[in-house]
Amino acid sequence: MPKDSAILLRDIRQLLTLRSPSAKVGPRRGKELSELGVIENGAVLVRDGEFVAVGTTREVLRIAKREAKKVQEISCRDQVVLPGFVDSHTHPVFAAPRLIDFEKRITGANYEQIAEAGGGIRSSIRGVRESSRSVLTAKVLGAFEEMAAHGTTTIEAKSGYGLDFDSEIKSLEAIRSAARKFGGTVIATLLGAHTVPPEHRAKPEKYVRIICEEMIPTAARKKLAKYVDVFCERGAFTPEQSERILRTARDHGLEVRAHVNQLTEVGLERFDQFAPASYDHMDKVSAGDIQRLSKADMIATLLPAANYFLGLSEYPPARKLIDAGVAVALATDYNPGTAPTASMPFVLSAACTHMKLSPAEAIVAGTFNGACALRLQGSKGSIEPGKDADLAIFDADNYREVPYWFGVNRCSATMLNGSFFLPANHSKV
Ligand SMILES: [Zn+2]
Repeated sequence: MPKDSAILLRDIRQLLTLRSPSAKVGPRRGKELSELGVIENGAVLVRDGEFVAVGTTREVLRIAKREAKKVQEISCRDQVVLPGFVDSHTHPVFAAPRLIDFEKRITGANYEQIAEAGGGIRSSIRGVRESSRSVLTAKVLGAFEEMAAHGTTTIEAKSGYGLDFDSEIKSLEAIRSAARKFGGTVIATLLGAHTVPPEHRAKPEKYVRIICEEMIPTAARKKLAKYVDVFCERGAFTPEQSERILRTARDHGLEVRAHVNQLTEVGLERFDQFAPASYDHMDKVSAGDIQRLSKADMIATLLPAANYFLGLSEYPPARKLIDAGVAVALATDYNPGTAPTASMPFVLSAACTHMKLSPAEAIVAGTFNGACALRLQGSKGSIEPGKDADLAIFDADNYREVPYWFGVNRCSATMLNGSFFLPANHSKV
Protein backbone atom coordinates (compact mmCIF):
# COMPACT_ATOMS: atom_id res chain seq x y z
CA MET A 1 0.00 0.00 0.00
CA PRO A 2 1.41 3.44 -0.87
CA LYS A 3 2.36 5.50 2.16
CA ASP A 4 -0.40 8.04 1.83
CA SER A 5 -3.20 5.48 1.45
CA ALA A 6 -5.19 3.91 4.21
CA ILE A 7 -8.09 1.54 4.84
CA LEU A 8 -11.16 2.71 6.71
CA LEU A 9 -13.39 0.01 8.14
CA ARG A 10 -16.71 1.63 9.01
CA ASP A 11 -20.26 0.76 10.07
CA ILE A 12 -19.18 -1.64 12.78
CA ARG A 13 -22.19 -2.43 14.96
CA GLN A 14 -20.04 -3.30 17.97
CA LEU A 15 -16.33 -2.52 17.87
CA LEU A 16 -14.62 -4.30 20.77
CA THR A 17 -11.51 -2.20 21.32
CA LEU A 18 -10.38 -3.78 24.60
CA ARG A 19 -8.66 -0.46 25.24
CA SER A 20 -6.99 -0.42 28.59
CA PRO A 21 -9.40 0.28 31.45
CA SER A 22 -6.54 1.90 33.38
CA ALA A 23 -3.06 3.25 32.82
CA LYS A 24 -1.48 -0.05 33.71
CA VAL A 25 -0.12 -2.29 30.99
CA GLY A 26 -0.19 -5.74 32.59
CA PRO A 27 -2.64 -8.57 31.98
CA ARG A 28 -6.33 -8.13 32.69
CA ARG A 29 -7.65 -9.77 35.82
CA GLY A 30 -10.74 -9.72 38.00
CA LYS A 31 -13.28 -7.15 36.81
CA GLU A 32 -10.96 -5.89 34.04
CA LEU A 33 -11.42 -9.24 32.34
CA SER A 34 -14.97 -8.16 31.44
CA GLU A 35 -14.12 -4.74 30.02
CA LEU A 36 -14.45 -4.80 26.25
CA GLY A 37 -14.37 -1.06 25.49
CA VAL A 38 -17.30 -1.37 23.06
CA ILE A 39 -17.92 1.41 20.54
CA GLU A 40 -21.29 1.28 18.77
CA ASN A 41 -21.29 2.20 15.06
CA GLY A 42 -17.52 2.12 15.21
CA ALA A 43 -14.75 2.50 12.69
CA VAL A 44 -11.00 2.01 12.47
CA LEU A 45 -8.43 3.60 10.22
CA VAL A 46 -5.50 1.39 9.23
CA ARG A 47 -2.25 2.50 7.63
CA ASP A 48 1.12 0.78 7.24
CA GLY A 49 -0.12 -2.25 9.16
CA GLU A 50 -1.17 -0.26 12.21
CA PHE A 51 -4.33 1.24 13.65
CA VAL A 52 -4.17 5.00 13.18
CA ALA A 53 -7.57 5.93 14.56
CA VAL A 54 -10.31 4.13 16.45
CA GLY A 55 -13.72 5.58 17.30
CA THR A 56 -17.24 6.07 15.97
CA THR A 57 -17.67 6.07 12.21
CA ARG A 58 -18.25 9.83 12.28
CA GLU A 59 -15.12 10.54 14.28
CA VAL A 60 -12.87 8.29 12.25
CA LEU A 61 -14.20 9.61 8.91
CA ARG A 62 -13.18 13.09 10.01
CA ILE A 63 -9.71 11.93 11.03
CA ALA A 64 -9.31 9.94 7.79
CA LYS A 65 -9.87 13.06 5.68
CA ARG A 66 -7.09 14.80 7.53
CA GLU A 67 -4.67 11.87 7.82
CA ALA A 68 -4.55 10.23 4.40
CA LYS A 69 -4.81 11.34 0.78
CA LYS A 70 -6.34 8.12 -0.41
CA VAL A 71 -8.72 6.17 1.78
CA GLN A 72 -10.28 2.89 0.81
CA GLU A 73 -13.61 2.74 2.64
CA ILE A 74 -15.04 -0.67 3.51
CA SER A 75 -18.40 -1.09 5.17
CA CYS A 76 -18.50 -3.78 7.84
CA ARG A 77 -22.27 -4.01 7.30
CA ASP A 78 -23.20 -3.77 10.95
CA GLN A 79 -21.13 -6.77 12.01
CA VAL A 80 -19.03 -7.21 15.17
CA VAL A 81 -15.29 -6.47 15.10
CA LEU A 82 -12.83 -7.57 17.78
CA PRO A 83 -9.04 -7.82 18.12
CA GLY A 84 -7.69 -10.88 16.31
CA PHE A 85 -7.38 -13.87 18.59
CA VAL A 86 -3.96 -14.62 20.03
CA ASP A 87 -3.68 -18.40 20.12
CA SER A 88 -0.83 -18.68 22.59
CA HIS A 89 -0.49 -22.48 22.71
CA THR A 90 -0.41 -24.68 19.58
CA HIS A 91 1.44 -27.78 18.36
CA PRO A 92 1.07 -27.51 14.57
CA VAL A 93 4.12 -29.50 13.42
CA PHE A 94 2.77 -32.98 12.79
CA ALA A 95 2.27 -35.10 9.72
CA ALA A 96 -1.09 -36.81 10.19
CA PRO A 97 -4.19 -36.86 12.39
CA ARG A 98 -4.31 -39.50 15.14
CA LEU A 99 -7.36 -41.46 14.10
CA ILE A 100 -6.37 -44.63 15.94
CA ASP A 101 -6.30 -42.70 19.23
CA PHE A 102 -9.64 -41.10 18.44
CA GLU A 103 -11.48 -44.31 17.62
CA LYS A 104 -9.80 -46.47 20.26
CA ARG A 105 -10.44 -43.96 23.01
CA ILE A 106 -14.15 -44.01 22.19
CA THR A 107 -14.19 -47.75 22.96
CA GLY A 108 -12.48 -47.11 26.30
CA ALA A 109 -8.94 -48.15 25.32
CA ASN A 110 -6.17 -46.86 27.58
CA TYR A 111 -2.86 -45.26 26.62
CA GLU A 112 -1.00 -48.58 26.35
CA GLN A 113 -3.67 -50.19 24.19
CA ILE A 114 -3.67 -47.16 21.87
CA ALA A 115 0.12 -47.36 21.59
CA GLU A 116 -0.06 -51.10 20.86
CA ALA A 117 -2.52 -50.44 18.05
CA GLY A 118 0.00 -48.07 16.43
CA GLY A 119 -1.40 -44.80 17.76
CA GLY A 120 -0.25 -42.40 20.46
CA ILE A 121 2.57 -39.88 20.35
CA ARG A 122 4.91 -42.46 18.81
CA SER A 123 2.95 -42.30 15.57
CA SER A 124 3.37 -38.51 15.50
CA ILE A 125 7.09 -38.84 16.20
CA ARG A 126 7.48 -41.27 13.32
CA GLY A 127 5.47 -38.98 11.06
CA VAL A 128 7.65 -35.94 11.76
CA ARG A 129 10.95 -37.82 11.56
CA GLU A 130 9.99 -39.29 8.18
CA SER A 131 8.62 -36.04 6.69
CA SER A 132 10.68 -33.52 4.78
CA ARG A 133 10.86 -29.95 5.97
CA SER A 134 8.81 -28.79 2.99
CA VAL A 135 6.03 -31.28 3.73
CA LEU A 136 5.93 -30.09 7.34
CA THR A 137 6.00 -26.46 6.24
CA ALA A 138 2.91 -27.04 4.09
CA LYS A 139 1.12 -28.71 7.02
CA VAL A 140 2.01 -25.90 9.41
CA LEU A 141 0.95 -23.21 6.93
CA GLY A 142 -2.33 -25.05 6.41
CA ALA A 143 -2.92 -24.95 10.17
CA PHE A 144 -2.04 -21.23 10.40
CA GLU A 145 -4.48 -20.46 7.59
CA GLU A 146 -7.25 -22.47 9.18
CA MET A 147 -6.66 -20.56 12.41
CA ALA A 148 -6.76 -17.23 10.56
CA ALA A 149 -10.02 -18.24 8.89
CA HIS A 150 -11.46 -18.50 12.42
CA GLY A 151 -10.21 -15.06 13.46
CA THR A 152 -6.74 -15.81 14.85
CA THR A 153 -4.01 -13.35 13.94
CA THR A 154 -1.14 -14.27 16.30
CA ILE A 155 -0.03 -17.85 16.88
CA GLU A 156 2.46 -19.44 19.22
CA ALA A 157 3.75 -22.60 17.50
CA LYS A 158 5.72 -25.34 19.21
CA SER A 159 7.95 -28.08 17.90
CA GLY A 160 7.73 -31.27 19.93
CA TYR A 161 6.93 -34.29 17.78
CA GLY A 162 10.43 -34.76 16.36
CA LEU A 163 12.14 -35.43 19.68
CA ASP A 164 15.62 -35.84 18.31
CA PHE A 165 18.03 -33.05 17.46
CA ASP A 166 17.55 -33.07 13.69
CA SER A 167 13.78 -33.44 13.80
CA GLU A 168 13.25 -30.73 16.41
CA ILE A 169 15.39 -28.28 14.44
CA LYS A 170 13.58 -29.32 11.25
CA SER A 171 10.25 -28.66 13.01
CA LEU A 172 11.36 -25.17 14.07
CA GLU A 173 12.57 -24.47 10.53
CA ALA A 174 9.18 -25.58 9.20
CA ILE A 175 7.51 -23.11 11.59
CA ARG A 176 9.83 -20.35 10.35
CA SER A 177 9.19 -21.14 6.67
CA ALA A 178 5.43 -21.27 7.21
CA ALA A 179 5.53 -18.03 9.23
CA ARG A 180 7.25 -16.25 6.32
CA LYS A 181 4.43 -17.23 3.98
CA PHE A 182 1.71 -16.30 6.46
CA GLY A 183 0.54 -12.74 6.90
CA GLY A 184 -0.06 -13.09 10.63
CA THR A 185 2.38 -13.11 13.51
CA VAL A 186 4.03 -16.34 14.67
CA ILE A 187 6.05 -16.94 17.83
CA ALA A 188 8.09 -20.17 17.79
CA THR A 189 8.71 -22.34 20.83
CA LEU A 190 11.13 -25.24 21.22
CA LEU A 191 9.34 -28.11 22.95
CA GLY A 192 12.02 -30.76 22.69
CA ALA A 193 10.92 -31.59 26.23
CA HIS A 194 7.45 -32.76 25.16
CA THR A 195 8.04 -36.37 26.16
CA VAL A 196 11.02 -38.70 26.37
CA PRO A 197 11.23 -40.47 22.99
CA PRO A 198 11.12 -44.30 22.92
CA GLU A 199 14.84 -44.75 22.28
CA HIS A 200 15.72 -42.86 25.50
CA ARG A 201 13.00 -44.28 27.75
CA ALA A 202 15.49 -46.41 29.65
CA LYS A 203 17.84 -43.47 30.21
CA PRO A 204 15.88 -40.22 30.10
CA GLU A 205 18.85 -38.25 31.47
CA LYS A 206 20.65 -38.71 28.19
CA TYR A 207 17.73 -37.12 26.38
CA VAL A 208 17.66 -34.19 28.83
CA ARG A 209 21.34 -33.64 27.98
CA ILE A 210 20.54 -33.60 24.25
CA ILE A 211 17.90 -30.94 24.91
CA CYS A 212 20.23 -28.83 27.07
CA GLU A 213 23.50 -29.30 25.22
CA GLU A 214 22.32 -29.48 21.62
CA MET A 215 18.74 -28.39 20.96
CA ILE A 216 18.57 -25.25 23.12
CA PRO A 217 21.99 -23.84 22.09
CA THR A 218 21.23 -24.42 18.39
CA ALA A 219 17.71 -23.00 18.56
CA ALA A 220 19.13 -19.92 20.30
CA ARG A 221 22.08 -19.47 17.95
CA LYS A 222 19.94 -19.83 14.82
CA LYS A 223 17.19 -17.69 16.36
CA LEU A 224 14.67 -20.41 15.65
CA ALA A 225 12.68 -19.95 18.84
CA LYS A 226 11.72 -17.20 21.26
CA TYR A 227 10.57 -19.62 23.96
CA VAL A 228 11.49 -22.97 25.43
CA ASP A 229 8.64 -25.04 26.84
CA VAL A 230 8.69 -28.16 28.98
CA PHE A 231 6.04 -30.75 29.79
CA CYS A 232 6.48 -31.25 33.52
CA GLU A 233 4.31 -34.23 34.26
CA ARG A 234 4.32 -37.79 35.50
CA GLY A 235 5.57 -39.85 32.54
CA ALA A 236 7.14 -36.80 30.85
CA PHE A 237 9.77 -34.69 32.69
CA THR A 238 10.31 -34.47 36.44
CA PRO A 239 10.35 -31.09 38.20
CA GLU A 240 14.16 -31.37 38.55
CA GLN A 241 14.65 -32.12 34.86
CA SER A 242 12.22 -29.36 33.96
CA GLU A 243 14.17 -26.87 36.10
CA ARG A 244 17.39 -27.82 34.38
CA ILE A 245 15.84 -27.33 30.94
CA LEU A 246 14.32 -23.97 31.85
CA ARG A 247 17.56 -22.77 33.43
CA THR A 248 19.51 -23.73 30.30
CA ALA A 249 16.99 -21.87 28.18
CA ARG A 250 17.44 -18.70 30.26
CA ASP A 251 21.21 -19.08 30.13
CA HIS A 252 20.94 -19.02 26.34
CA GLY A 253 18.78 -15.90 26.34
CA LEU A 254 15.51 -17.66 25.58
CA GLU A 255 12.27 -17.05 27.45
CA VAL A 256 10.30 -19.87 28.97
CA ARG A 257 6.81 -21.27 29.46
CA ALA A 258 5.66 -24.59 30.83
CA HIS A 259 3.00 -27.29 30.52
CA VAL A 260 2.12 -27.99 34.13
CA ASN A 261 -0.62 -29.39 36.34
CA GLN A 262 -2.52 -31.19 33.60
CA LEU A 263 -2.74 -34.60 35.29
CA THR A 264 -0.89 -34.11 38.55
CA GLU A 265 -0.30 -31.06 40.69
CA VAL A 266 3.23 -29.75 41.06
CA GLY A 267 4.17 -26.72 43.14
CA LEU A 268 4.93 -23.87 40.76
CA GLU A 269 7.08 -21.79 43.09
CA ARG A 270 10.21 -23.64 42.01
CA PHE A 271 9.72 -22.42 38.43
CA ASP A 272 9.03 -18.78 39.24
CA GLN A 273 12.78 -18.03 39.33
CA PHE A 274 12.81 -18.51 35.53
CA ALA A 275 10.01 -15.97 35.03
CA PRO A 276 7.84 -18.06 32.73
CA ALA A 277 5.47 -16.02 30.60
CA SER A 278 2.76 -18.57 31.16
CA TYR A 279 1.81 -21.76 32.97
CA ASP A 280 -0.35 -23.82 30.66
CA HIS A 281 -3.15 -26.35 31.35
CA MET A 282 -3.54 -25.80 35.11
CA ASP A 283 -6.26 -28.40 35.56
CA LYS A 284 -4.92 -29.09 39.04
CA VAL A 285 -3.63 -26.17 41.01
CA SER A 286 -3.15 -25.65 44.73
CA ALA A 287 -4.75 -22.86 46.73
CA GLY A 288 -1.27 -21.56 47.54
CA ASP A 289 -0.30 -21.32 43.89
CA ILE A 290 -3.58 -19.57 43.06
CA GLN A 291 -2.77 -16.98 45.72
CA ARG A 292 0.76 -16.43 44.40
CA LEU A 293 -0.35 -16.21 40.78
CA SER A 294 -2.99 -13.63 41.67
CA LYS A 295 -0.13 -11.28 42.52
CA ALA A 296 2.17 -12.24 39.63
CA ASP A 297 2.28 -11.30 35.97
CA MET A 298 2.45 -14.90 34.81
CA ILE A 299 -0.57 -16.00 32.86
CA ALA A 300 -2.52 -19.18 33.52
CA THR A 301 -3.35 -20.43 30.05
CA LEU A 302 -6.36 -22.72 30.00
CA LEU A 303 -6.96 -25.20 27.19
CA PRO A 304 -10.53 -26.50 27.45
CA ALA A 305 -10.62 -27.97 23.92
CA ALA A 306 -8.34 -30.76 25.19
CA ASN A 307 -10.71 -31.59 28.05
CA TYR A 308 -13.60 -31.53 25.60
CA PHE A 309 -11.92 -33.78 23.04
CA LEU A 310 -10.79 -36.27 25.68
CA GLY A 311 -14.39 -36.44 26.91
CA LEU A 312 -13.42 -35.35 30.41
CA SER A 313 -16.02 -34.10 32.80
CA GLU A 314 -13.53 -31.96 34.69
CA TYR A 315 -12.14 -28.71 33.37
CA PRO A 316 -9.52 -26.32 34.74
CA PRO A 317 -10.90 -24.38 37.74
CA ALA A 318 -11.26 -21.15 35.78
CA ARG A 319 -13.76 -19.49 38.09
CA LYS A 320 -11.59 -20.09 41.11
CA LEU A 321 -8.59 -18.64 39.28
CA ILE A 322 -10.41 -15.59 37.95
CA ASP A 323 -12.25 -14.84 41.19
CA ALA A 324 -8.93 -14.98 43.05
CA GLY A 325 -7.44 -12.46 40.61
CA VAL A 326 -5.27 -14.73 38.44
CA ALA A 327 -4.81 -13.49 34.87
CA VAL A 328 -6.11 -16.26 32.61
CA ALA A 329 -5.74 -16.74 28.86
CA LEU A 330 -7.43 -19.20 26.53
CA ALA A 331 -5.78 -21.09 23.67
CA THR A 332 -6.61 -24.04 21.42
CA ASP A 333 -3.73 -26.44 22.25
CA TYR A 334 -4.09 -27.39 18.55
CA ASN A 335 -2.49 -30.86 18.31
CA PRO A 336 -3.26 -34.23 16.75
CA GLY A 337 -3.71 -36.22 19.96
CA THR A 338 -5.92 -34.21 22.26
CA ALA A 339 -7.11 -31.00 20.58
CA PRO A 340 -7.50 -31.12 16.80
CA THR A 341 -9.16 -27.73 16.45
CA ALA A 342 -7.94 -24.46 14.98
CA SER A 343 -10.99 -22.59 16.26
CA MET A 344 -10.61 -20.02 19.01
CA PRO A 345 -14.37 -19.31 18.89
CA PHE A 346 -14.94 -22.96 19.81
CA VAL A 347 -12.47 -22.63 22.69
CA LEU A 348 -14.30 -19.53 23.91
CA SER A 349 -17.57 -21.42 23.68
CA ALA A 350 -16.20 -24.34 25.71
CA ALA A 351 -14.80 -21.87 28.24
CA CYS A 352 -18.26 -20.33 28.68
CA THR A 353 -20.24 -23.55 28.87
CA HIS A 354 -17.78 -25.74 30.79
CA MET A 355 -15.67 -23.29 32.82
CA LYS A 356 -18.33 -20.63 33.40
CA LEU A 357 -16.49 -17.68 31.94
CA SER A 358 -18.79 -14.91 30.76
CA PRO A 359 -18.64 -14.20 27.01
CA ALA A 360 -16.74 -10.95 27.75
CA GLU A 361 -14.20 -12.73 29.97
CA ALA A 362 -13.66 -15.39 27.31
CA ILE A 363 -13.01 -12.74 24.64
CA VAL A 364 -10.46 -10.87 26.75
CA ALA A 365 -8.78 -14.17 27.71
CA GLY A 366 -8.53 -15.17 24.03
CA THR A 367 -7.14 -11.84 22.84
CA PHE A 368 -5.44 -9.42 25.23
CA ASN A 369 -4.38 -11.94 27.86
CA GLY A 370 -3.22 -14.30 25.09
CA ALA A 371 -0.99 -11.45 23.93
CA CYS A 372 0.32 -11.11 27.50
CA ALA A 373 1.05 -14.85 27.54
CA LEU A 374 3.44 -14.15 24.64
CA ARG A 375 4.59 -10.80 26.07
CA LEU A 376 3.18 -9.05 23.03
CA GLN A 377 0.63 -6.82 24.75
CA GLY A 378 2.49 -3.73 23.57
CA SER A 379 1.52 -4.46 19.96
CA LYS A 380 -1.24 -7.09 20.03
CA GLY A 381 -4.50 -7.95 21.74
CA SER A 382 -6.46 -4.70 21.55
CA ILE A 383 -7.63 -2.24 18.92
CA GLU A 384 -5.86 0.99 19.82
CA PRO A 385 -3.91 3.55 17.79
CA GLY A 386 -0.29 2.47 17.31
CA LYS A 387 -1.00 -1.21 17.67
CA ASP A 388 -0.71 -3.79 14.89
CA ALA A 389 -3.85 -3.86 12.74
CA ASP A 390 -5.01 -7.37 13.64
CA LEU A 391 -8.75 -7.87 13.82
CA ALA A 392 -11.56 -10.31 13.17
CA ILE A 393 -14.96 -9.47 11.73
CA PHE A 394 -17.82 -11.65 12.91
CA ASP A 395 -21.16 -12.16 11.23
CA ALA A 396 -23.07 -11.22 14.38
CA ASP A 397 -25.16 -8.42 15.88
CA ASN A 398 -23.78 -8.91 19.37
CA TYR A 399 -20.36 -9.95 20.66
CA ARG A 400 -21.96 -12.68 22.78
CA GLU A 401 -22.61 -14.54 19.54
CA VAL A 402 -18.88 -15.16 19.13
CA PRO A 403 -18.85 -17.92 21.79
CA TYR A 404 -22.56 -18.69 21.38
CA TRP A 405 -22.48 -20.31 17.93
CA PHE A 406 -20.31 -23.39 17.99
CA GLY A 407 -19.38 -25.92 15.34
CA VAL A 408 -19.81 -23.24 12.67
CA ASN A 409 -17.48 -20.48 11.59
CA ARG A 410 -19.03 -17.03 11.89
CA CYS A 411 -15.77 -15.19 11.21
CA SER A 412 -16.39 -13.40 7.93
CA ALA A 413 -12.97 -11.75 7.54
CA THR A 414 -9.64 -11.45 9.32
CA MET A 415 -7.10 -8.66 9.04
CA LEU A 416 -3.48 -9.63 9.67
CA ASN A 417 -1.03 -6.78 10.21
CA GLY A 418 -3.17 -4.45 8.09
CA SER A 419 -3.98 -6.83 5.21
CA PHE A 420 -7.06 -8.94 4.75
CA PHE A 421 -6.35 -12.63 5.06
CA LEU A 422 -6.47 -14.63 1.85
CA PRO A 423 -5.48 -18.29 2.12
CA ALA A 424 -2.67 -19.26 -0.26
CA ASN A 425 -4.96 -21.82 -1.90
CA HIS A 426 -8.02 -19.57 -2.07
CA SER A 427 -8.23 -19.91 -5.86
CA LYS A 428 -8.56 -23.70 -5.70
CA VAL A 429 -11.98 -25.13 -6.41
ZN1 LIG B 1 0.22 -28.40 24.73
